[in-house]
Amino acid sequence: MPRPIILTSHPHRGARLSPWLRWGAADPLARGPVVATLQDAAARNAIGTHSGAYALYRALAVAAGQLKADHRPDFHNTRPASAIGPFPAWGDPQKIVSIDPFGHLAPELFAGHGLDVRPSIAVTRAQINMPELTAAMREGRLRPDGEVLLPNGDARVTKIAIEPVWYLPGVAARFGIGETELRRHLFEQTGGMFPELVTRPDLQVFLPPIGGMTVYLFGDTAKLGQEETRIACRIHDECNGSDVFGSDICTCRPYLAHGIEACIGMAQEGGVGVIVYNRKEGRALGEVTKFLVYNARKRQEGGDRAEAYFARTECVAGVQDMRFQELMPDVLHWLGITRIDRLVSMSNMKFAPIVQSGITVLDRIAIPDALIPPDAQVEMDAKKAAGYFSDHVPDAAELAVAKGRGL
Ligand SMILES: [Zn+2]
Repeated sequence: MPRPIILTSHPHRGARLSPWLRWGAADPLARGPVVATLQDAAARNAIGTHSGAYALYRALAVAAGQLKADHRPDFHNTRPASAIGPFPAWGDPQKIVSIDPFGHLAPELFAGHGLDVRPSIAVTRAQINMPELTAAMREGRLRPDGEVLLPNGDARVTKIAIEPVWYLPGVAARFGIGETELRRHLFEQTGGMFPELVTRPDLQVFLPPIGGMTVYLFGDTAKLGQEETRIACRIHDECNGSDVFGSDICTCRPYLAHGIEACIGMAQEGGVGVIVYNRKEGRALGEVTKFLVYNARKRQEGGDRAEAYFARTECVAGVQDMRFQELMPDVLHWLGITRIDRLVSMSNMKFAPIVQSGITVLDRIAIPDALIPPDAQVEMDAKKAAGYFSDHVPDAAELAVAKGRGL
């Protein structure tokens, strides 16, 4: 029998009131649950749904008859493997606007309210092994301690998957724009995917269909949020070509490995190492745009050189970068971090928002020159000339030299 399609653009007729949601309340029961599940349309108090872009695969699974649309997950034994928080920033509506701070605790906190509430954060433990770490052990930069780093090169981590949950008034404020303006553009630029963005100003929380982030923690996570705990941190934006496949056009994987090395070192000194891995492929322009830019760089007259690096990106994408680091510090506040002792990054685009959000940064660690692949020298020179944190700024003559390979 055909099932009626329920439009979401206006409140459900005859609906009881959606559950309370007071963003920024420190007490989770006063804050209320984020209800972004689909079965009970009247109970929803957020726009969009869980799983980010993977919601579309769920739709395919339901359409193909492989998943029951009303499947309710069994969360038995899925609770966090390490305790995270609560920290003071969880109760500050300005400090965290793009993550649900209670997202890993949601099913437990709101059990018994008769709501289909799902976690937007999952916390587990793992051991990771990268050839760069075993090389660092061979070269004497890292030594196994049997706790953080094992003799076979395995590093023990707590890893945390986080889905974005946007509090729209707070996101708009970060960019200094009006909430109505933000909602309109989100609606229009997704091809009208979420009508509630423009018809339901009462719904202030949006789960955008984008990638989230993964956090890798090294050391004792119970020390997070304590003033005396020293922190090493790298904020890394996804670069599949380099991170996974070792492509030599950029420094992403070498810098990530260097960051992990710094995190292990900090954990061995009694601090905590934090790697934040954001799904923002190709400066959040996406991999298709990224590869088009590579071709444009390598085919241009005069060869692939630093002085034309940003211009080639702008030709294709219209902008140089869409990562919008304004939202990035949220995860650091979620982890209770108020000071970073070693920030493994040269990027002022990352440094500035971290400091502006109230986190003190002591040392900034640059990538050692020996880790930069030859073809990546174009990117490195261009970024240094554009204001990356560095003690050597290349001059115009150096920037004009083609250092990259042709196609
Ligand atoms: Zn890269």
